[in-house]
Amino acid sequence: MTKLILATNNKNKLREIREMLAGTGIHALSLGEAGISAEIEEIGTTFAENAAIKAKAIYEIMLERGERCYVLADDSGLSVDALDGAPGVYSARWAGEGASDADLIAKLLDAMKDVPDGQRGAHFACVMCLIKPDGTQHFFTGKVEGTILRKARGKNGFGYDPVFAYQGCSFAEIPAAKKNAVSHRHHALMQVEDFFTGEHGESREKTKS
Ligand code: IMP
Repeated sequence: MTKLILATNNKNKLREIREMLAGTGIHALSLGEAGISAEIEEIGTTFAENAAIKAKAIYEIMLERGERCYVLADDSGLSVDALDGAPGVYSARWAGEGASDADLIAKLLDAMKDVPDGQRGAHFACVMCLIKPDGTQHFFTGKVEGTILRKARGKNGFGYDPVFAYQGCSFAEIPAAKKNAVSHRHHALMQVEDFFTGEHGESREKTKS
């Protein structure tokens, strides 16, 4: 069993990553479970930079404690074609520091109100940075394409899920397991799993989609 610390305070990302790692030989610890309380400022201008900043900060805290371990960070966001890729790397803070998911969705729907059907393409992107016990960094990228709805639909998920349509349903209308089988986070995490399989021979019991 490989111990991995997830460098995030976002409980939704934590939940999704843990659901996706169930049945693998990877035991993912939250920051709280690892006894770490840290607010890390995301000052990067790309998903990869921010993922590396988060993973490195946690790796260094563990190193100071004399423990070398695996650390995984996820930086992700929504890029909308009609908004030249915004909110992108600023997805969490686009409507101001401390804005709620409802605030973010309201801002997006307003920015998109005059954009015609057929020009409402968007994608979620996720970059994961894995730091190995020896300190080397490895990056994994995932993406899922969809469109931006005109109204929020569904109660599941988090963030922009209610306005992101994928194959006719919003990400908030489908069960978590279904989102977790197709999402940007899924695509990045599958590569992380493959990496671990290559290193340790760990593999999941369930079939990959
Ligand atoms: P960060 O990676 O912590 O900078 O935040 C990413 C932000 O992008 C989240 O707070 C959400 O607003 C948005 N986001 C990332 N992944 C998802 C997702 O799977 N569904 C909906 N929104 C997401």
